[in-house]
Amino acid sequence: MASSSYSNSPCAACKFLRRKCLPGCIFAPYFPPEEPQKFANVHKIFGASNVSKLLNEIQPHQREDAVNSLAYEAEARMKDPVYGCVGAISVLQSQVIRLQKELDATNADLIRYGCSEMPRAPHVFPGSGGVGQGSIQFGGGSFDQNSGFPNYGYPWNNNPSGDGHDSGGEGTM
Ligand SMILES: [Zn+2]
Repeated sequence: MASSSYSNSPCAACKFLRRKCLPGCIFAPYFPPEEPQKFANVHKIFGASNVSKLLNEIQPHQREDAVNSLAYEAEARMKDPVYGCVGAISVLQSQVIRLQKELDATNADLIRYGCSEMPRAPHVFPGSGGVGQGSIQFGGGSFDQNSGFPNYGYPWNNNPSGDGHDSGGEGTM
């Protein structure tokens, strides 16, 4: 941004103010001639001499940020002369509050659903009436947890290969 302003054409500020753009022009690095509206807005809202004073008061490495901030505020104030960028800020703040409430409500729902899921622990005992319909899937019978139980036809024993007995030696795929 700052490099394009060292051409022979005057910076946007000097062009707007119809003055000669001297080599040490304070505006030149931040108001390139390709963005005439940027300076026009800033000048209309803050005044060129105030901007020049402000830029001289702050450190050079902070000037670009300051100009961007002034340009943002100036543009917002052109669109909304009453609230400027405070209007955008308050809209966003109320949006944050609304979303925070929504998030809190969703988290509360999650906790409630989590608590009501608690009794359905992952222990599936045989004979408890229709449980275990696919809720637990062990990968290819590599678990040996069913070896202590009689064969009640667990879902993980109904593998299509037919050798779903307690032999754990089929894992050589
Ligand atoms: Zn200039």
